[in-house]
Amino acid sequence: MHEKSPATRSAPLAARVLDLIASGQAASRTELSALLGAAPSTISLTVSQLVDRGLVAEGGTASSTGGRPRKVLRIGGAEDFAVAADVGGRHARIGVVLPGGGLDGVATLPLDIAAGPEAALAQLAGSLEQLAEQRKTGRLRGVGLSLPGPVDTAAGRVTLPSRMPGWNEFPVRDWLRERFGVPGAVENDANCMAFGEHTVRPAGLRQSVTVKIGSAIGAGIIADGRLYRGATGAAGDITHVRIDGAADHPCSCGNTGCLETVASGAALVRILRETGAEADTTEDIVRLVEDADPAATRAVRQAGGHLGTVLAANVNFFNPDAVYLGGILSTLEPFVAAVRSRLYEGCHPLVTKHLVIDRAQLGADAGLVGAGLFALQQALELALREVAEPQGM
Ligand SMILES: [Zn+2]
Repeated sequence: MHEKSPATRSAPLAARVLDLIASGQAASRTELSALLGAAPSTISLTVSQLVDRGLVAEGGTASSTGGRPRKVLRIGGAEDFAVAADVGGRHARIGVVLPGGGLDGVATLPLDIAAGPEAALAQLAGSLEQLAEQRKTGRLRGVGLSLPGPVDTAAGRVTLPSRMPGWNEFPVRDWLRERFGVPGAVENDANCMAFGEHTVRPAGLRQSVTVKIGSAIGAGIIADGRLYRGATGAAGDITHVRIDGAADHPCSCGNTGCLETVASGAALVRILRETGAEADTTEDIVRLVEDADPAATRAVRQAGGHLGTVLAANVNFFNPDAVYLGGILSTLEPFVAAVRSRLYEGCHPLVTKHLVIDRAQLGADAGLVGAGLFALQQALELALREVAEPQGM
């Protein structure tokens, strides 16, 4: 269950030491000892263990007062990295992810998830290994995957995915760990996008909802700076909210008239084809709107309105600092404008007073960054546990 508990709970002293060094409140053993009220010998032992694992570095000397120089502690491993992939239906976006959300070597490659987990993961792993080998500095700490389906993060498996045939209950995280020899992190794509986007935004925006609107719709919730998964990992699933006045189109969930059937890229393709337009993919919809096709623009605006109505209810309830819109449809101004306008119409003024409504700043990279950061977080929590266990904490 360690995946769900914050580092500060799984390894109190080591985590608090790391936290104080990272936040600049302490830069020496003496300061740590004073701030934490722990014996100097205990602090020294913990710091040595953190240094051994590359989590803390002891560098240079500093003396602002001209007195005797002293050793300065800082967070180590800034050069360390994860490799990650944001997996879609036909493509994967891969790259190196650094602590703090920096990216390197980003590339998009064709990938057929319908070929099943063994074939798809083997292909992906080959490309990720190349990325890791090309990197000259730092150490590979973890491997992160963003997947387009529900993920049981505690088990590291995909569960009941409607768009990933053959993947149900496949042990993705264990497979990654076996192949790479470092911790693996597997998470749903909307959650990855939410976490990635949250990380690069100002620290004051601690509550946010990120919606991914591509051929399907998903949302991730950040509550008090952390991903909120809910009781069974389904938090943020606005996809199957029933829309008043929606036609009785069947949804993948077995119901009819869900948000997904009127506002997703797949729904827009269906709606526009019924009018005789030539559209096979969500990318075709985007092209039509960019060419100012009236029917496509109207359909996209209506889709944004439906999403905005569903979001307004959730925003009233959750009172976030920010709503971020990601996925390919969020690149369309008429879509974003419709969402925004419904949110202002449908929310209490107190809720929208300071509400940030914005496109995902990381754009198409948000999911990739989030997946990599989850992997780095796993690696950190594992290292902290290893530090904590010999001390019996
Ligand atoms: Zn549904």
